[in-house]
Parts: sequence; C-alpha cells; structure tokens
Amino acid sequence: MSLLVVGSLGLDTVETPFGKATDVIGGTAIYCGVAASYFTGVRMVGVVGEDFPQAEIAFFRQRGIDLDGLEIKPGKSFSWGGRYHLDLNMRDTLFTHLNVFESFQPALPPKYRDTPFVFLGNIGPELQLEVLNQMATTPKLVSLDTMNYWIERTPQQLGDVLKRVDVLLVNDSEARQLASEANLVKAARQIHNMGPKIIIIKKGEHGALMISGGKYFWAPAFPLENVFDPTGAGDTFAGGFMGYLAHAGKVSDETLRQAVIYGSTFASFVVEDFSLGRIRHLEQAEISSRFTDFHTMTRFTKPWE
Ligand code: AMP
Repeated sequence: MSLLVVGSLGLDTVETPFGKATDVIGGTAIYCGVAASYFTGVRMVGVVGEDFPQAEIAFFRQRGIDLDGLEIKPGKSFSWGGRYHLDLNMRDTLFTHLNVFESFQPALPPKYRDTPFVFLGNIGPELQLEVLNQMATTPKLVSLDTMNYWIERTPQQLGDVLKRVDVLLVNDSEARQLASEANLVKAARQIHNMGPKIIIIKKGEHGALMISGGKYFWAPAFPLENVFDPTGAGDTFAGGFMGYLAHAGKVSDETLRQAVIYGSTFASFVVEDFSLGRIRHLEQAEISSRFTDFHTMTRFTKPWE
C-alpha cells in the first residue's frame, strides 16, 4: 500500500565537529520519503524553488517516488542551517529561510486522496489538518510529527489535528510539553486522550519508545562508532516506520514492533553521513543485516524456561 508524505523539502547547510556540508538536500519530506521508498510507493506533497537541483528530483524519481504533488515555484527553496556541538544531541539553528515554503498550501492531486498511509511531517498543524481534509477516504493510519514551536504557538490547531491522528512521533521534551506533565508514562496517557493511540518517543542516541494500548516497546539506538551528522534522524525513522507498515499493509502489535526496528535501522544509517549520503543507495542485504543486529542486541531468554 502506498504512503503519502507531506513536509519540507529544501537545502541544508550543516556543520558538525567532523565537517561541513553546504546546500545539500534536506527537509522532513525528503528524509522520510527516501527512507520509505525502500518499502513502498511514496507520494510526495511539498514545494521547492527553481534552485532545487534537477539531479535530486531525478534521484527521487529513480527511487520510484511520485512527485505529482511536488510544486516547483519561482523563487528559492526552503533552506536551513544548523551547527552541532561535540555532544551531537545539541545543535543550534543558524538560520531558517522559509522562501517558497512560507506560502505553502498543500494541494493533493486527486489520485493521492485515497492513500491508506499518511505521514504529516513537522509543519504548521493547520496545514497538516488541511491535508487530512483533502483526503477522500479515511486513511488506515495517520502519523504526525510536531515540535515545541507549534506546541507553544498553536496549541488549539494542534489539538484539532491530533484528534484525527493515530501515531504521534515526538521527542521526550516535546511529549512532556504537550501533556504539561513531567512523567513520560503519565504524559503518554494524556496524549492518548488527545487522539493518538500510539505514541513514539524518540530519544536520539538512547533509541525510541513506543507506547500503545498501555504496552511498551523499547528499541535501542544502534551503537555506532561514527555518528557523522544527526540531521533528519527523526524523519528517517518515520520513513522506515511508516514505509514498513505501508508495505505490510497491516497494523498489529507485531508489525508495529518490526516498524520501530526498521525506523531505528534507517535512522542508524542516515547519521553515518551528511544529508542523505548513506541512504541513497542501500542494498537490501545491508538493511536486513542491521535489522538482524538489532534483534541480536535485544534478544534474551527467560532463565526459567
Ligand atoms: P530533524 O533533524 O529530524 O529535526 O530534521 C531536520 C530537517 O528538518 C532538516 O533537513 C531541515 O531542513 C528541516 N527543518 C528545519 N527547520 C524546519 C522548519 N522550521 N520547518 C520545516 N522543516 C525544517
């Protein structure tokens, strides 16, 4: 089954303690869409300017991504600059130029309107709601990513869209802020009452926690020796997670757990290089091998059985 991905597409300039990359492709829809394209057909909705490299558009097409929902507008693409500290969990945003993204109004081509799986990347909640309003059929699964900016500035609109969302992907501080609750277990319960029945709390180098129906599933982060650039790890996680679920076509406890591990697998690849360097051309064998490493890393038996 296919996956609809909505979010930013643009050019990033990123500095880490290990180097700098200037005007490389980035944005939530790109990280998510490319990761998901390893599993399923992706339909992309977003906007870029005329400066967006044609070769990258060709690369998305090569990956089988449907770009009928991608607008190319006169002007410059969204661009973002960030600098990471030695502790890669800390980063400063150096600039955010919205450019053509400032007036972005998602418009779903008619053929996108019955897509069963939907990922609403981190954009204004009123735009996320607009996407859902344009759907002709109720999707099988809708997931949403958001951040402190929207939690603080547009809580009402965020509340409205959350009522129609199945999976919320946030980091731990965002979960606490959204629920106004310091304890994550209690925060998850409150978020559950806002709409999403599945909450995924991303904890960077400490992995990801899924809370669903009062049950918990923990995935560690892959222990990497060389983390090069953490940009896009969360969106890439979302791509592996949603892409796999769309491929499976079924949302069960088992497929959700597998999806969290595929999300973690893709996130562990993307941080190994700047931009999408590491996930442009992954072999199926590399993906399976890392998935298996996650299995090995977390498997244990009960000594009394
Ligand atoms: P993450 O590391 O998961 O927070 O994602 C980083 C990506 O988000 C980068 O590729 C940026 O281009 C994109 N980004 C940064 N700020 C914004 C924003 N205000 N709206 C949309 N996308 C953004």
